[in-house]
Amino acid sequence: MTDTKGKVVGVNGNMVSVEFDGVISMNEVAYVKVEGSSLKSEVIRIRGNTAQMQVYEMTKGIKAGDEVEFTGDLLSAELGPGLLGQVYDGLQNPLPLLAEKAGWFLERGIYVDPLDREKKWDFTPTAKVGDVLKAGEYVGTVPEGPFTHKIFVPFYLLGSYTVKSVAEKGSYMLKDTVAVITDEKGNDVNVTLSFKWPVKRAVNCYEERLAPTETMVTKVRLIDTFFPVARGGTYCIPGPFGAGKTVLQHTTSKYADVDIVIIAACGERAGEVVETLTEFPELKDPKTGKSLMERTIIICNTSSMPVASREASVYTSVTLAEYYRQMGLNVLLLADSTSRWAQALREMSGRLEEIPGEEAFPAYMESYIAAFYERAGQVRLSDGTTGSVTIGGTVSPAGGNFEEPVTQATLKVVGAFHGLSRARSDARKYPAIDPIQSWSKYKGVISQDKVGFCFNILKKGVDVGSMMKVVGEEGTSLDDYLVYLKEEMLDAVYFQQNSFDAIDANATVERQMYDLDKLLRILGSDFAVSDKEEARTYFNQLRQKFIDWNYTEFQSDGFKKLEKEIDDLYASKNGKLTAEAESLLRA
Ligand code: ADP
Ligand code: MG
Repeated sequence: MTDTKGKVVGVNGNMVSVEFDGVISMNEVAYVKVEGSSLKSEVIRIRGNTAQMQVYEMTKGIKAGDEVEFTGDLLSAELGPGLLGQVYDGLQNPLPLLAEKAGWFLERGIYVDPLDREKKWDFTPTAKVGDVLKAGEYVGTVPEGPFTHKIFVPFYLLGSYTVKSVAEKGSYMLKDTVAVITDEKGNDVNVTLSFKWPVKRAVNCYEERLAPTETMVTKVRLIDTFFPVARGGTYCIPGPFGAGKTVLQHTTSKYADVDIVIIAACGERAGEVVETLTEFPELKDPKTGKSLMERTIIICNTSSMPVASREASVYTSVTLAEYYRQMGLNVLLLADSTSRWAQALREMSGRLEEIPGEEAFPAYMESYIAAFYERAGQVRLSDGTTGSVTIGGTVSPAGGNFEEPVTQATLKVVGAFHGLSRARSDARKYPAIDPIQSWSKYKGVISQDKVGFCFNILKKGVDVGSMMKVVGEEGTSLDDYLVYLKEEMLDAVYFQQNSFDAIDANATVERQMYDLDKLLRILGSDFAVSDKEEARTYFNQLRQKFIDWNYTEFQSDGFKKLEKEIDDLYASKNGKLTAEAESLLRA
């Protein structure tokens, strides 16, 4: 706490106006004292000696004259071992502990330490007396689940520090001193297992930002092959209500080839969030067979919690992601939904009586969204290793209209766009990513020529399909009809994927390459079929075999048996590769 005190002079929803005496700063945390509780708030505007604050709790009962205490601290997250496996609210309260203390959402103003202060960690020193270190370098490590957790020189320290002493190998609690380091002026700083970092500031202790060039494999075929995401890149999933945004993110969190997943469940309906909370601890990591929670952090606030905490949860989650990136790990941050955060910004902007932009969103919303996604990236760290934060955000535009401001602001800054379509989800074609509308600027796992060949069939097939709606099947030539059947096959066996089947959902790069080549043979061949009826029956058979094949383990006996059946079926109609397809497959 600082000496600065204030008094409430006005309350407008979760915005409180305060007159203060002394010095305060933007984004400083303050507490409003009401009915025996202290409610956490953040300064969001200062005019003379009046400040507006957003309150992170229900503001019921706050009245003019209530006392306010300023802390001098920015809204911060605690960084240290023990974050993995936690379920936090936006203010980093561990929700299960909070529920024990306060009852679910009953009592306000209860804050619980984010990390267990008594738990012992096995510390191994890596620094030696006399070493010169700077912020982001580390003095030792502790094991955390499957990872080696680095104990850093706190990120906020400027300049160089000389190690004066380091603790011996042994077990230590969170706030035990494990090293003493001395700055250039001779001042000592104690390094403990944890420290705080202001969540709205990007962690910047790295040597270099690298261009995101490596594919972050999600195992979703439509994404990895056609609309890939890069490690350290950004992508968004806009889609109407019920189109499968949340399910797609959950599938990704389970199968994506990353070390750590952070889920920011932001402002969605409580039922959906509770589903996440009950489902996740049950899920097994397909890589290790252990609980997925061991490498997951969930930051959660529902639509029934105060809107300001949506903002806090977005920033807290990206800060935790950056922290694990600093350990040389690949982190995936999934935010669901960024629209709810934008709505919170809009609400607050209205209360501040700012000049509204499009659809009443504040003019600065675009730059806030850009700044959030800019915190993604792959970086080279001081020890030469690299770490990455990849950010994927869902957007829930009203009525699924992608022209609205939040989707548009997001599209300007992300590297890939996975637009979900109502038509596809209504037809239960999952994942409902629209293959015509979506795009990616990143490099995928399959050669661009093969991808282009498939897109060509997709476009032509869709054209024939819409023409057929007008002229009927009879008015369509056999050649056109075959293109249509090929497009349908591409969609059914490759775009669509069952995220609830452990084998189909887990399409490795190796498998995607193998399957796509097999599929390309079919899509790039002429067949001896004499009429549409015969063609349709034939492609139905091919398609069914291929789908069965998707459900068999790669290179298993069943896989080889079905592959032979597909090959035989191919030969049965004298399948013959076109010159174009032949050169593609040879490349
Ligand atoms: P959104 O988050 O876009 O509102 P959800 O992800 O909650 O939508 O999906 C809504 C429903 O659609 C799910 O409860 C499920 O029944 C169905 N669904 C979505 N994706 C899939 C999928 N990949 N496979 C099967 N069903 C799905
Ligand atoms: Mg959802």
